[in-house]
Amino acid sequence: TSGLQSLDASKTRFTRSEILRPVPEPGSAELWAQNASSDHMVTVRWTDTGGWEAPELKPFGDFTISPLASALHYATQCFEGMKVYRGHDGKLRLFRPVLNAQRLRMSAMRISLPDFDAAEMVKLIEILMQVDGERWLPKDKPGNFLYLRPAMIGTGRQIGVQLPREAVLFIVAVAWPDFSCENPPGNPLSRKGLRLITSQEDSIRAWPGGFGYAKVGANYGPSFLLHGLAVKAGYDQILWLFGPDGQVTEAGSSNFFVVMKDASTGQVELVTAPITDGIILDGVTRRSVLDLARSRLRDKLVVAEKSFNMADLELAWEEGRLLEAFVSGTAFFITPVLAIKYKTRELDLGGNQDGPESSFALQIKDWLKNIMYGSDSHEWGLVI
Ligand code: PMP
Repeated sequence: TSGLQSLDASKTRFTRSEILRPVPEPGSAELWAQNASSDHMVTVRWTDTGGWEAPELKPFGDFTISPLASALHYATQCFEGMKVYRGHDGKLRLFRPVLNAQRLRMSAMRISLPDFDAAEMVKLIEILMQVDGERWLPKDKPGNFLYLRPAMIGTGRQIGVQLPREAVLFIVAVAWPDFSCENPPGNPLSRKGLRLITSQEDSIRAWPGGFGYAKVGANYGPSFLLHGLAVKAGYDQILWLFGPDGQVTEAGSSNFFVVMKDASTGQVELVTAPITDGIILDGVTRRSVLDLARSRLRDKLVVAEKSFNMADLELAWEEGRLLEAFVSGTAFFITPVLAIKYKTRELDLGGNQDGPESSFALQIKDWLKNIMYGSDSHEWGLVI
């Protein structure tokens, strides 16, 4: 539109880093202590007069932005979280990356940051991995991943309340620990799952008509206060409730699932909150869990995206119908929930979740892992 340049990965200019930093050992304790970024990053500047400039692949380093930058005052910031996987066949893969790129576009639109072509963002990730993939995910150490953080910020000098006139899209890759409780060495969550505590009515993460569906920084900063209190009290994540009847939405920065038996029919159901209320992030993992359950578990359970509340969970738990609970997301992947603290009570869910035979969550996790690391050549795994 109006002659502005669109995002074009083929115009990328390359500046290689002269200093290469030490790569942390996969699974090592130091991963928990530091965010070790890879040697390079991608940045692309946008202006409202010219559109997207040529992308730059350059050494990872600090930004210089004006103290008047829009993002620093008005939270014109959005981001994505995804991973790149070194497969058992030696290939690098992304998992459904176009969904992340489309979600970043959607988030950007919510805060008036510029639109772009999703496929070009995926190409920029490929460019970053062409440069850093070999060193940071060595071929002789398959089964490991890097966390990718594409983000966009409003950088215009704009202390006035107005639409962002300048922005930067950037992509960094970080060596990250496995939060999914799989590798206890150095992992503070050295147990088989998560302990959740519900939010209170005075600390709501998202509301209808708000922006909870978007991956904007403004959804996260304000949640750290409650998260900190939860950790102090011995829990790992908040189970975010909404409304007077304690509608269950999502857990920490993951989506939330339960497997329970219907009270009247005894039918086993995989249940998660619907995204139609606009208060839940449309997780890529969530979608994938739903798709796999619908296609591969259809003889064993029915899938329901429907509202449910804490009273439903409590009753199912009391009657022995609550079979499993788990979270899904890029960071925590698929992780069982061991306990939910609600008001004065702690629902103990540990009993049913100790092996793949007895757990749908671990079955689905295995299927997803096989796709991510190339043991199952599935269209969701994009070889780069
Ligand atoms: N909910 C929230 C609030 C999140 O931040 C995330 C992480 N992106 C998720 C759910 C899980 O989404 P995904 O499966 O795409 O990582």
